[in-house]
Amino acid sequence: MTDVLNRLKQNNPEEKEFYQAVDKMLVSIKPAIENNPQYELQGIIERLTEPERTIIFQVPWMDDQGQVHVNRGYRVEMNSAIGPYKGGIRFHPSVSLSIFKSLAFEQVFKNALTMLPIGGGRGGSDFEPKGKSDNEVMRFCRSFMAELAHHIGPDIDVPDGGLGVGTREIGYLFGAYKKQRKEFSGVLTGKGLGWGGSPVRMEAAGYGIVYFTVEMLAARNQTIEGKTCLISGSGNVAQHTAEKIIELGGKVLTLSDSSGYVFDEEGIGASKLAFVKRLKNMKRGRISEYVDKYSEAVFTPVDYTSKYNPIWNHKADCAFPCAMENEINAVDADHLMKNGVQLVCEGADMPSVPEAIDIFIDNKVLYAPSKAANAGGVAVSCIEMAQNRMLLSWSPEEVDTRLSVIMKNIHQKCLDTASEFGHPGNYLMGANIAGFLRVVDAMLDQGVG
Ligand code: NDP
Repeated sequence: MTDVLNRLKQNNPEEKEFYQAVDKMLVSIKPAIENNPQYELQGIIERLTEPERTIIFQVPWMDDQGQVHVNRGYRVEMNSAIGPYKGGIRFHPSVSLSIFKSLAFEQVFKNALTMLPIGGGRGGSDFEPKGKSDNEVMRFCRSFMAELAHHIGPDIDVPDGGLGVGTREIGYLFGAYKKQRKEFSGVLTGKGLGWGGSPVRMEAAGYGIVYFTVEMLAARNQTIEGKTCLISGSGNVAQHTAEKIIELGGKVLTLSDSSGYVFDEEGIGASKLAFVKRLKNMKRGRISEYVDKYSEAVFTPVDYTSKYNPIWNHKADCAFPCAMENEINAVDADHLMKNGVQLVCEGADMPSVPEAIDIFIDNKVLYAPSKAANAGGVAVSCIEMAQNRMLLSWSPEEVDTRLSVIMKNIHQKCLDTASEFGHPGNYLMGANIAGFLRVVDAMLDQGVG
């Protein structure tokens, strides 16, 4: 395994996010691969860590003043052993090939955990939608899809929304695909409800995170009612995590964005959350505006390059990082422990650095890795694909029931697998090994070349 990682580093210098994801995975699947020479003979780890296809392309677009800009577009098609590539598109200035490879690698195992027929991929661009007009976002999306359309399709690769890519962006991308390919198909998920979207897709990642949390707490004979919760982010995942926690009687203390966070000791209840949704989704405003309306709350600006993030330094029972990867470092993890946090459920993809995860596991807190906890988003995306194929639309209740059953099953699978491999209660090992085994079994069945 050390050889594989060294080769990976040699062949892909500078891809530190990707090594981090692979390294983390290799450590926890060790019990499943040792004693299995077949995996080495079949080059399983090498095949899993080399994308099946990577597309990098130019995205030129014109701003409202007539100035032309050029961004870079990516799609990493990582593994299709169990179905067409599936995974979100991200528009954010911080992206790189390394980040997309790490996200796509994680996505392969996350998708496997849902037990649905979907492979893994990720992509996007270093374009920043924040501060752009609707017309600028539309021109960018149409240019992005002009190239991406050559590589995707309902049976090939079905991208979804993601960070910086909501229903508005998916609408523009879908319009461009339809015009170019002359087909109305389920090629993207996260679509508007009136034109092929699924009920509960918007809510799915956040609701699923809370369904998973409820299961973890139940395994310790606890409920979420009355629990105080720190949530980072105020986008799609954070909003719907907060919504479900509030519905189930938990108390949400914080929300954040890229400028800082609000702490509301009285709790961010349903009507305050409705304000946040209007602020972030319609006005595209800043979370700092929350305190203009609710003066009992405090806004703290955050410098995300500093040694720790103060949002994780408050007394609470549970923490839900729902903004970005690597947003909890070892100092933040120590702060969470010191403040009595008993459960960390990852809403964003890979938000905790490896040292922080070690701290959670050493302290025996309930720790849910993102590949299990936020799999509800991709699960309902797959349910959207199924409805598109059948030309049907299921009711919100039906989709929500399917989502909660899927999350319950993922939780059980993680627990059972962790016990089977000698690490009872370790959700990280359970999720990694269960996802890995499903993908590898399919790869072995399908042969090489
Ligand atoms: P959104 O774009 O809706 O929200 C992202 C949030 O993160 C915003 O509040 C944003 O603030 C904040 N943010 C952006 N950059 C930073 C930064 N540097 N530091 C702190 N906060 C920042 O994205 P989603 O909610 O959809 O996605 C959040 C995470 O969840 C991502 O990791 C995504 O990959 C993952 N995810 C999403 C799923 C989905 O279905 N949407 C499914 C599974 C995972 P601002 O408003 O200032 O930009």
